[in-house]
Amino acid sequence: MRVLIVEDEPDLARVLGKTLEEDGFAVDLAHDGESGQHLAESVDYDVILLDLMLPRRDGWTVLGGLRKRKQTPVLIITARDAVGDRIRGLDSGADDYLVKPFELGELRARIRALIRRSAGRASAILSSGEVELDTRSRTVRRKGETVPLTPKQYAVAEYLLMHRGELVTRAMLYEHVYDEDEDTLSNVVDVYVAQLRRKLGQDFIRTRRGEGYIVDG
Ligand code: CA
Repeated sequence: MRVLIVEDEPDLARVLGKTLEEDGFAVDLAHDGESGQHLAESVDYDVILLDLMLPRRDGWTVLGGLRKRKQTPVLIITARDAVGDRIRGLDSGADDYLVKPFELGELRARIRALIRRSAGRASAILSSGEVELDTRSRTVRRKGETVPLTPKQYAVAEYLLMHRGELVTRAMLYEHVYDEDEDTLSNVVDVYVAQLRRKLGQDFIRTRRGEGYIVDG
């Protein structure tokens, strides 16, 4: 899953980015509203964390512009705890709202919930056939047995399972599994798919030739 953090306080941006990277997210950072809006509109993020008080363009304006084009889930993170600001944020198209300072555990849970909801999934556990993935503990089981996966293998499995029953193209996997700074040429998605089939069963991921991959729903 790929997340954009639009936050101008460098320390907070760094901590959030590091935390989410450790959780296996591909993370992009923007430190002002203008670059944040550009990234938000050009990349198909799974979730966007958006500060309100930002240099160059405030969060409400970023959100208003984004909502004319995209439905990406947006979680507002801000020190402004006035009720009016919260209402204005939600009415501008935000999906959720968290007031600083917040617990990282709560932020993680809200991000998971937003991603689930936007994919039309109600449960934190995703399954297909004999494979079961728990998005809270980031663990994968096959026939009840835990299967250790590398972070990138997990990211590919999670994206495919979140979109099970749908065709997932290679381009979609690249966009949602890597961030801006990663060298995707040395990390070919097909290799991860082959590794996942070895670990989780050859039938777990079907290839639709020339189009992409499908995990059965
Ligand atoms: Ca700020």
